[in-house]
Amino acid sequence: MAGRKPKARDHFWATVGNDSNECMEWPFAIDGGYGRVRIEPGGKPVRAHVAALELMGPPRPSPNHEVAHNCGNPACYNWRHLRWAERSDNLMDRAEQGRSRAIKGKKGFLSRGDVFEIANSLMLGETRREIAERFGCTRRLIDLIAQGKRHAKLTGFPEALTGGS
Ligand SMILES: [Zn+2]
Repeated sequence: MAGRKPKARDHFWATVGNDSNECMEWPFAIDGGYGRVRIEPGGKPVRAHVAALELMGPPRPSPNHEVAHNCGNPACYNWRHLRWAERSDNLMDRAEQGRSRAIKGKKGFLSRGDVFEIANSLMLGETRREIAERFGCTRRLIDLIAQGKRHAKLTGFPEALTGGS
C-alpha cells in the first residue's frame, strides 16, 4: 500500500462524529470534487462523504442507493447533510445544482463523476455486468477500469481495488 496521509485518516475519525450543522469540507485529497481517504490503515481509499454516512447515518437501503448531498457541496462530509438517494434522484439533484455533466449519448463515454461512481460500485462489490448496464457502457470498459487500464488516475485502481499489499 502507499501508506500516505495517515493525517487525513486521523482527521476523518476525529471529525466524522462532530456535533456540527455546518458544512464540513474535506481538507485533504479531493477527487472529482469529493474528499477521498483511506479510513483504515492499508484499506481502500473511499469517498469521505460516503464513509461518513455509512458510519453515522442509517444503513444503505439498497445497492442502488448512493449518497446525495442536501447542501450541494460535494466536498462536505457532514453526515447530517447527506442522505441515501436512488441514483435517479441524485442525478436530478445534480442537474438542479447545475453540476450535471453531459449525459452519455455514446456507448462508453463516461464523465469523471461516472468514473467515480463506477469505482465506488466496484469497491462495494457490485457486479461488473450490473455496473455496465447502469452506465450504458460495455462490460469490457468496466473490466479495463477495474484493471487500472482506463482512468487509473481517477480511481487509483488496480491497487485501490485490491486494497494494496
Ligand atoms: Zn454540507
